[in-house]
Amino acid sequence: MLQQTQVPTALPYYERFIKQFPTPAALARASDHAVLKAWEGLGYYRRAGNLHAAAKAVIRDHGGRVPDDPKVFAQLPGVGRYTCGAVQSIAFGHARAALDGNAVRVLARWFAVGRPITEAATRRRLWQLADSLVPASAPGDWNQAIMELGSRLCTPRSPRCPLCPARRLCAAAKRGIQDRIPVKRRRKPIPHIEVGAGIIWRRGKVLMCKRPAGKMLAGLWEFPGGKQRKGETIRECIRRELKEECDLAVTVGKHLIDVTHTYSHLKVTLRCYHCRAPRGRAKLHASAEARWLRIDDIPTLPLPAADLKILQALGIERETAVRATRNPRGR
Ligand code: SF4
Repeated sequence: MLQQTQVPTALPYYERFIKQFPTPAALARASDHAVLKAWEGLGYYRRAGNLHAAAKAVIRDHGGRVPDDPKVFAQLPGVGRYTCGAVQSIAFGHARAALDGNAVRVLARWFAVGRPITEAATRRRLWQLADSLVPASAPGDWNQAIMELGSRLCTPRSPRCPLCPARRLCAAAKRGIQDRIPVKRRRKPIPHIEVGAGIIWRRGKVLMCKRPAGKMLAGLWEFPGGKQRKGETIRECIRRELKEECDLAVTVGKHLIDVTHTYSHLKVTLRCYHCRAPRGRAKLHASAEARWLRIDDIPTLPLPAADLKILQALGIERETAVRATRNPRGR
């Protein structure tokens, strides 16, 4: 959970997750659906799939115990160099470095690294430096101390050098260049796409589709739709997408909500409209799954953050409609 996510965000998820799946065996037995539902809202959903697969491998190949050999542990799904170093040093006392974003910043400043930290050669150098520093005794404490220093004092902007217990080690602070390190390349702006999504109604139920394996947000459920093409209105986009995706010739009705969500590599604005479906079955691609559900049953599915907002908007719209029916003069 702590890959790409800060402790305050991950903590409530961790507490719920560990209650629901207290052992590797419990996690290994769980359905994909249950694991994704427990992860819902935390983002980077591939981590949930990897953790689930890792639990299954621990049960199948390691007698239910997390391997304490770093080389063996590194073979588990989702375990990269950072996770391997963090787990193996903190849980098992192996002298392995753990370089997260905070530790990268601290080391780049200690050694006044003047090259962009996004370059592969710079990353390699930082890992070499980190490996050379990690002590044989209490390596987990060392790794946590560096990460903590980065999160509390050696912050990206305005590091608090006068309070820093490591300032005598720090080349950047000695030269007064700590605000210019780490060097970062200006990132290209991420693409922004517009997506038309349909709340497709039939007999009081709404059509929900499962995102296929191998695609972004795989295994999560969404209100169906797709990317707007050049020269197409959003209503045309919804009609075309729903014909292509579900073989339904829908009538596009009232606008519900626009939701913008930023992923690490992409910004998406979902433009959501109520739609009415004609009779007939929704025919989906072979790999896809779909369900007609009452609004109250949709929360049983794991949903991406943007679709949770759409669901919330549907709930608010319904409540407003109920109130208006009970009290037509607004008194
Ligand atoms: S002295 Fe300043 S720049 Fe150097 S590690 Fe400490 S807080 Fe960071």
